[in-house]
Amino acid sequence: GNGTLPRRASEENMRSMVDKVSAFIFDCDGVIWRGDSVIDGVPETLDMLRAMDKRLVFVTNNSTKSRAGYLGKFTSLGLNVSAEEIYSSSYAAAAYLESIDFPTDKKVYVVGEVGIQEELDLKGIAHIGGPADADKKISLKPGFALPHDPDVGAVVVGFDRNINYFKIQTAQLCISENPGCLFIATNLDAKTHLTDAQEWAGNGAMVGAIKGAVKRDPIVVGKPAEFMLANIATQFGLHRNQICMVGDRLDTDILFGQQGGLSTMLVLSGVTTEAALLHPENGIHPDFYMSQLSDLLSIKAA
Ligand code: PLP
Ligand code: CA
Repeated sequence: GNGTLPRRASEENMRSMVDKVSAFIFDCDGVIWRGDSVIDGVPETLDMLRAMDKRLVFVTNNSTKSRAGYLGKFTSLGLNVSAEEIYSSSYAAAAYLESIDFPTDKKVYVVGEVGIQEELDLKGIAHIGGPADADKKISLKPGFALPHDPDVGAVVVGFDRNINYFKIQTAQLCISENPGCLFIATNLDAKTHLTDAQEWAGNGAMVGAIKGAVKRDPIVVGKPAEFMLANIATQFGLHRNQICMVGDRLDTDILFGQQGGLSTMLVLSGVTTEAALLHPENGIHPDFYMSQLSDLLSIKAA
């Protein structure tokens, strides 16, 4: 944990970690895949852990797909994962609204993509916005005022490749003018690996645009939020001291695990370099780190 310097996991460290826990929570991008390709050795590693009867949960902060959408992605990548093992920040947003008994006569304004809409649909929560507002514009006529729906009781902001001024203004009007309207962010990732070719502005940018207008902090439901871990632990029937969180990002995955009392492993196959991990300015230290998930296969050999 914090305080001690991060250590590269020895075979012994990996074996005792695997013996100690009964479940692994895997971050997806940077651990399981990078963009659209599976990271080397992942299928074999998952097979090994399954053969050891470990519970596996796959958690992503990327809200663009629903859990069903991710099931399609796992399948198309040749990974044998079941729908029940997947947990996305799009689902977390819907689960959060359900957990607070979001009033049935209220609706959600979505800044985001289909993942959030599909998960809200499954919970029977009404919503507007999303992809339908992709091409909407405000009028440039003098004196123009944009109307907004007074029944919007929550604005959910997720990654949106078609964010525009209409959506930002609608979101800020709902949050500022509808009494009690919630401001919910699926996640705050600064940059993402949408494609491998470069780093892309993440949902931190979309949330930041709206936060800058309303001067309020959002409720975050994705990693590192406690809500997400509590919801996962309940839903999957897991005890925190039996879980190892494996991720590639310090300020979401490793922080999420540490704050929640989980064991933590960082992999260097994603956004964090060894230099950044060991930099004196970094105060987020995983229990161990590995080059990539398949390093765990070394425990199989002996
Ligand atoms: N958000 C977006 C839009 C992304 O493209 C990604 C990664 O590709 C993420 C978040 C981070 O996903 P994960 O939590 O699986 O690393
Ligand atoms: Ca990641």
